[in-house]
Amino acid sequence: MKVTFLGTGTSQGIPVIGSSHPVCLSENPKDKRLRVSVLIEWENFAYVIDCGPDFRQQMLRANCSNINGIIFTHEHADHTAGLDDIRPFVFKQGDLPIYVHERVLKALETRFNYIFETENRYPGAPSVLPHVIENKPFQLGNMNVIPIEGTHYQIQVFGFRFDKFAYLTDMKFVEEVEIEKLKGVDVLVINALRETEHISHFSLSEALDFIDKVKPKRAYLTHISHLLGFHDEVQQKLPENVFLAYDNLQITI
Ligand SMILES: [Zn+2]
Ligand SMILES: [Zn+2]
Repeated sequence: MKVTFLGTGTSQGIPVIGSSHPVCLSENPKDKRLRVSVLIEWENFAYVIDCGPDFRQQMLRANCSNINGIIFTHEHADHTAGLDDIRPFVFKQGDLPIYVHERVLKALETRFNYIFETENRYPGAPSVLPHVIENKPFQLGNMNVIPIEGTHYQIQVFGFRFDKFAYLTDMKFVEEVEIEKLKGVDVLVINALRETEHISHFSLSEALDFIDKVKPKRAYLTHISHLLGFHDEVQQKLPENVFLAYDNLQITI
């Protein structure tokens, strides 16, 4: 299985528009972060988790010409705002499957009403094939995917386990019973916003505590704010099996 980090930034991305913060001015490509998303590929299958405002650029950058569907963690704009840009896939493949919590589907229906219109559709509007997911395993191709539920301030959010790989973002609290589902993963991706505490996201120390509980062989941090610091400096402070993810990073599991 191959995982490509399409974006590793928090909601504003890095650089932040108009910011003169040193991390936003950094010339290091590892300090430039699009909104958070990953491409997961195995055998002939390719799925994207979340579809934020940088989706078009991410698909071009990853040279991605076919996807089997999009899986959504939750409805926040930094995870959903790029949905109009699925059109090239729809023109080629037909309705694009999306895997989504019922509440998130309702949010998409409101924000992208023209996508879900059944009458007088605008020719060329994108179209999707929704699959409502609950907190129980579901099938993607030949893969059994296990949702991991957490909370993100007051909203429910899904992470996903694909065999030995798990991807969780926008988590602030995860119950023990959900953490149990992660036991035995080789690679865990988890969000770490910045050093100081935040109401809806794990701080760096909260993310490291979470990694300690799950005990994966390797962990990667994502959904990163410019306030966390320069990639190279933060990486030096991390435990030896923990890595700061960066855009375009590819890992094999
Ligand atoms: Zn987010
Ligand atoms: Zn969010």
